Amino acid sequence: MSSVVPESERAPVGVDPTRASIARVYDAFLGGKDNYEIDRQVRDRVLQVAPEAADMAVENRHFLIRACRFLAHSAGVTQFLDCGSGLPTAENVHQVVQRINPEATVVYVDNDPVVANHGKALLEDNDTTHFISADIYKPDEVLGHEVVRKHIDFSQPVAFLQVGTLHHFVGDAQGPAKVMRNYVDALASGSYVTVSHFFDPENELSEVARKMEEQFTHSPMGSGSFRTQAELDQLTEGLDLLDPGWELCAQWWPDGPQIDPLSVGQRCIAGALGRKP
Ligand code: SAM
Repeated sequence: MSSVVPESERAPVGVDPTRASIARVYDAFLGGKDNYEIDRQVRDRVLQVAPEAADMAVENRHFLIRACRFLAHSAGVTQFLDCGSGLPTAENVHQVVQRINPEATVVYVDNDPVVANHGKALLEDNDTTHFISADIYKPDEVLGHEVVRKHIDFSQPVAFLQVGTLHHFVGDAQGPAKVMRNYVDALASGSYVTVSHFFDPENELSEVARKMEEQFTHSPMGSGSFRTQAELDQLTEGLDLLDPGWELCAQWWPDGPQIDPLSVGQRCIAGALGRKP
């Protein structure tokens, strides 16, 4: 039997294909090609307990795109700080907001080397979009980064994005809320904060939500916590939430009516958009 690894499965230097990565597992859920066998195994284990789990990734991404359209168009924000940007996919934040305002500045932050490789290649010819490798759970590291300081003016409103990221925080249960507080403190009044998170709806779906959590956290990826409404509220403390407040991503200002009943995946991820008073 040949032990040659196919071209598509060969990892770039510095990338460990034997460890699942959050960005690549998310890419696998979205049907992308930038993932390895170990990432697909994590996805498949979650799909075994919740066959509609991919809807969480899809709805999360659609929520992000709708929120960015709103922020660039209706709210008129011109600078975006996107924490945990993920692998390039259709569409990316800078493509959404720069279609509306070509002058909008976007700074992406991620700590995954595959994301960094793709991000830098994609942005080579774009003077208003930047990528930094940093730990999003260390606000001082991100906020003090020279690229962030150079391109984001914190005396003016910023669109701060923390979408599909905080459920991957591992450690102190209060950690994500503390991280959010530190970022929000650094933002000017009139800034906007967009967050999404795996959701335990505390109803008949709780059991499946907890089974997905079990699969994620005990997988080689090692993270993926589902939080209750009370826990989600802590992430947006001090912000004026725009209508409709925390809502299922699928139902946060959707593009049209819901034709089919919501799937399990659609009911297990929620998002919110708040404004700093
Ligand atoms: N925000 C995108 C979206 O919602 O479509 C991507 C979400 S993806 C599920 C989470 C991203 O956060 C991944 O790209 C992962 O590499 C990144 N991430 C997770 N923990 C991180 C950390 N401590 N520092 C920087 N990035 C992190």
